[in-house]
Amino acid sequence: MQTVSTIPLAVPNIGPEDIASVHTAMTDGWVSSVGPDVPAFEQAVAAASGTSSAVAVASGTAALMIALRALGIGRGDLVLCPTYTFVATANAIHSAGADPIFVDIDLATWAIDINHAEQMVSRLVAVGLPKPRAIIVVYPMGNPIDMTDVKVFAERHGIRIVADAAAAIGSTFDGRPVGGLADATTFSFNGNKTMTTGGGGAIVGDDGFIAAARSLASTGRLGVNYDHDRPAFNERMTNIEAALGRSQIARLDSFIAAKARIRARHDLFAHKHDLDVFPRHRLAERGDWFSGVVLRPETDIRDVVSVLNSRGIGVRLFWKPMHLQEAYAPLLSSLKQAGLSTDDLYPVADALWRRVLPLPCSTNITDRQIDEVHAVLAYALAKTEGANDILLTRLAAIA
Ligand SMILES: *Cc1c(COP(=O)(O)O)cnc(C)c1O
Repeated sequence: MQTVSTIPLAVPNIGPEDIASVHTAMTDGWVSSVGPDVPAFEQAVAAASGTSSAVAVASGTAALMIALRALGIGRGDLVLCPTYTFVATANAIHSAGADPIFVDIDLATWAIDINHAEQMVSRLVAVGLPKPRAIIVVYPMGNPIDMTDVKVFAERHGIRIVADAAAAIGSTFDGRPVGGLADATTFSFNGNKTMTTGGGGAIVGDDGFIAAARSLASTGRLGVNYDHDRPAFNERMTNIEAALGRSQIARLDSFIAAKARIRARHDLFAHKHDLDVFPRHRLAERGDWFSGVVLRPETDIRDVVSVLNSRGIGVRLFWKPMHLQEAYAPLLSSLKQAGLSTDDLYPVADALWRRVLPLPCSTNITDRQIDEVHAVLAYALAKTEGANDILLTRLAAIA
């Protein structure tokens, strides 16, 4: 049995309106992929993203995979993505039939480092491998980034831009909604995201692209009869999920406000303890899916996590970079055989990932619970930093 944390990291915020919405879908019999809530939810996602259309799908992973296929990317193609991301980004490239080429991140933004992407392209070309056909930009912790350099890079190489905005629904950059910053933008509505459909995702983009994505996600079916115009997938969102999505997205502004409140409190703690906070561009707003602290390089994050866990606080190590994953070791060794060694190629991600500690940030967490987390964290930090017994006893008493 899984142990339940007293203060979990990020859990769904389900209210009576969510239950009523799902209840209505069920009593009306709209339980599968057809039903009134799917198009209504898609419209709400498009509206929140500043695009004219959206397609709802089964997961954030499926959203990325379908987006790549709808842009014409598939077998034999290479796609650039940051090594520091959730594994879904790499898995989606793989399941589209392409291979991911991992790129280091920029320490200031935690997003893909375009100078490093440029180097990777030169190195691929130098060993006779094909030029990548797309770049996936992950918006770190749901905060959009300045896409100017990405656009210049993509134009120079004639490649497409997909934004993995998994956790960025409702966010803006320089006042512009998140859906307008790339050729295709994808979201996840997994249970730990700012809003949820249980499991689910969505793709936004221009109308022609969305029509292709919709067809690919729904068996390539042309009408009510069994006519199909392309080999495709079944990655549709169900109406039950969309019913939950509809009521959740109506509450999105309140969830986003909660994320801002939580981040502000975590940032205060970080400043007080002279720790770094998670990056966010000054023009990025309404993001902050996860917030927390960046530990000092010498702090052993495992010790800190175990102290917090022993007090029922559900923190854990965050994303392990893709180039360190067993899942992608065969890919890296085949690249090495082709002449492209990736040894020591990711110094920023290597140094950062063990320092990132997201703190509890469920939208229904209270300020008091946050303060409780901070008290235990202050104790854990003092302990791992070898503070004297008097101080430790004092911190333990208030933790
Ligand atoms: C959550 C997430 C995804 C997609 O997750 P699913 O579980 O497939 O919905 C993709 N990329 C990033 C960066 C994420 O955080």
